[in-house]
Amino acid sequence: VAQKRRDESIAHAVCSTGLVTPVRANVGTLNEHIPSIADGVGLVRTELLFSGRRSPPGETEQASVYAALANRVSGKPCIVRLFDAGGDKPLPWLPGDARGVELLLAHPRVLEVQLRAIDRAREHGDVQVLVPMARSAQDIARVRAGLESDAPVGAMIETHEAAGAIESIARVSDFISVGTNDLASSVLGVDRAVSPELSLHDGRLLVVIRTIVDGAHATGRKVTVCGELAGHPEMARQLVGLGVDALSVACERIASVKVALGETEGPRNR
Ligand code: PEP
Ligand code: MG
Repeated sequence: VAQKRRDESIAHAVCSTGLVTPVRANVGTLNEHIPSIADGVGLVRTELLFSGRRSPPGETEQASVYAALANRVSGKPCIVRLFDAGGDKPLPWLPGDARGVELLLAHPRVLEVQLRAIDRAREHGDVQVLVPMARSAQDIARVRAGLESDAPVGAMIETHEAAGAIESIARVSDFISVGTNDLASSVLGVDRAVSPELSLHDGRLLVVIRTIVDGAHATGRKVTVCGELAGHPEMARQLVGLGVDALSVACERIASVKVALGETEGPRNR
């Protein structure tokens, strides 16, 4: 606890000198402590907010959860990822073999209710949409077509194939977020459960991230990394060195990542 307090106070000092790279919070439970130094919420794992249920949450319930999160980071971005179920993340009310956006598109009513809830939550803050396991420009266009508000829509790049299509996906997206947990598993051909640790020591993943950053920047889009990799201070520095524009990490990692970046970035100078 003492170490955490020390990190938070150093991070406050670093922030007051003006960090270049925003560091946001990954949220997967309702009672998560989002530190005040967080530059918003970079990933809401909505499927975890509503796990352990037999039926999908309704529009009003979802809207109030998303609005409450947006209020907690008042005015800063709150990036809500659409339900990411399937594969090794099964949800009884979202059945099927597909994963991420593919599964959602197969359940249009569930998708519609979630998008409507996000539309409503936007009245309370800067709520944005993130599309899990995006495969193509068409996935992003289909999600955007379901929104009534002008919420920014970002694509999550989590497979080698999506990384290969980065320019066409980025062109129709407002921002890009790299999910290194799944991306490492796809690039390295290993199980998701072991991919974060392995990827720390395997340069192949960084090469793919570089491709994603360059492709997104070529179309004028910013790139966030929101997988576990970004929460390791040394990796956070490397990612920023590759040109990554923002990081989103577990709440308890925010302070130490900010401290690590503060040591390399110094005052706002880019
Ligand atoms: C990821 O894959 O890196 C990610 C952030 O998403 P999740 O871990 O929820 O699949
Ligand atoms: Mg993922």
